Amino acid sequence: MKNGVMFQYFEWNLPNDGQLWRQLKEDAQHLAERGITAVWIPPAYKADEQADEGYATYDLYDFGEFDQKGTVRTKYGTRAELEQAIAALHEQGIQVILDTVLNHKTGGDRPEKFEAIPVDAADRNKETGEVRTIEAFTAFDFPGRGDTYSDYKWHWQDFSGVDYDNLTGETDIFRIVGEGKGWSQGVDSENGNFDFLMCNDIDLDRPQVCEELNRWGEWAAGQFGFDGFRMDAVKHMDYNFTRRFIEHVRASRGGKFYAVGEYWSGDLASLLAFIENTAGELDLFDAPLHYNFHEAAQEQGGFDMSRLLDDTLVKSSPEHAVTLVDNHDSQPGSGLESSIADWFKPLAYGLILLMQEGYPVIFYGDYYSEDRVASPHRRIIDLLLDARRRYAYGEQTLYFDHPSCVGLVRHGDDEHPGSGLALIISNDEAGEKYMELGELRAGETWIDLTGNRPEEITLDERGGGTFPVSPRNLAVWVRK
Ligand code: CA
Repeated sequence: MKNGVMFQYFEWNLPNDGQLWRQLKEDAQHLAERGITAVWIPPAYKADEQADEGYATYDLYDFGEFDQKGTVRTKYGTRAELEQAIAALHEQGIQVILDTVLNHKTGGDRPEKFEAIPVDAADRNKETGEVRTIEAFTAFDFPGRGDTYSDYKWHWQDFSGVDYDNLTGETDIFRIVGEGKGWSQGVDSENGNFDFLMCNDIDLDRPQVCEELNRWGEWAAGQFGFDGFRMDAVKHMDYNFTRRFIEHVRASRGGKFYAVGEYWSGDLASLLAFIENTAGELDLFDAPLHYNFHEAAQEQGGFDMSRLLDDTLVKSSPEHAVTLVDNHDSQPGSGLESSIADWFKPLAYGLILLMQEGYPVIFYGDYYSEDRVASPHRRIIDLLLDARRRYAYGEQTLYFDHPSCVGLVRHGDDEHPGSGLALIISNDEAGEKYMELGELRAGETWIDLTGNRPEEITLDERGGGTFPVSPRNLAVWVRK
């Protein structure tokens, strides 16, 4: 989709009031008017408790429909409310992308005993004890749902590891022992083998499990009309499974189904390997770009801005890059906290929303609120969304040629009369940069859309101008 923008419609600290689906329904028209083309919704199925964000997955088939775990609704509302929100978004032409957690489950209904062996958290290939019988809550009967939608019941054989021995009360990483059991090989090699992340790790080498999850994916996509999945924790899942799962669901949707994976690693080579291993079937979030933003924001004027796009996905594999500034994992207080400091956020959003490459994401916490505190960035994000919709077209020239002041030019295209822009950002003092739009633009008068710079620039005979920017700020120059 031309100049598509994804909106991550949740943050970690939303109240557990069951109101998110209703709010989203009411917000659909506004999001469309702002230029949002897809909404990424949180894991919408039953977790181990009502207040959970959805990543502690209990029952993938219960989207707030059955009385399980002491609640019908999830943190975000009921299934009926979710369906109404989806209908409202579709009416506005907005795609709906479901956060999909297939790495682990938790909150099993009954404990089971089985053989397991503890392993070293820093090297999961290293055993730290003897094989012994342990007990964990690995039996999932789904008593509130019964056999509705699926009669598959989960047992210890469907998992490869657990984080708890109920017999001794010991918390550790236990690899389940048995015929055909073991960590998946197609996972990230951090900590020796990063198959295990948390809870009951799903055994994605087990054919019955893969069949059930494929069945679920097809069911969920068809039942709710989802337009794509955001695949959680793919770093910890066998890439062969992930690839086949997406291929299966996509085929069931007539070949059209979006997929982006969360491979949360700053290591570009690992991301590129995943893209190759999954034959390009999934996009990935550009975690390296996020970490560059984080570093730049922390180091302030000391960061060399000409390196801002170095070793990023958006530079190396732009057609698979989903660009973001912050998300629910990087926000303050979360597991992977690496939040971008406030002063830098407008600069980062300016870059991801106006550059040619990448599929940008706007984070709920940056647009609305985080932990009920209103974001100071909504005005600039609205303005940049407007700039993306009206001006961010055509070829691009990068001017990443100075340690504190960098910029880019979009030359505009015939389809969007008057389009084209010049973005300039500085992480230090006020700066200026000569950038060229092309001879056809000679004599035009340009202004800064952000209002940070009051002057007007007249383009010279080459269509160039010396565009200024204020200290630690951005300017978005467009034709007056
Ligand atoms: Ca795993």
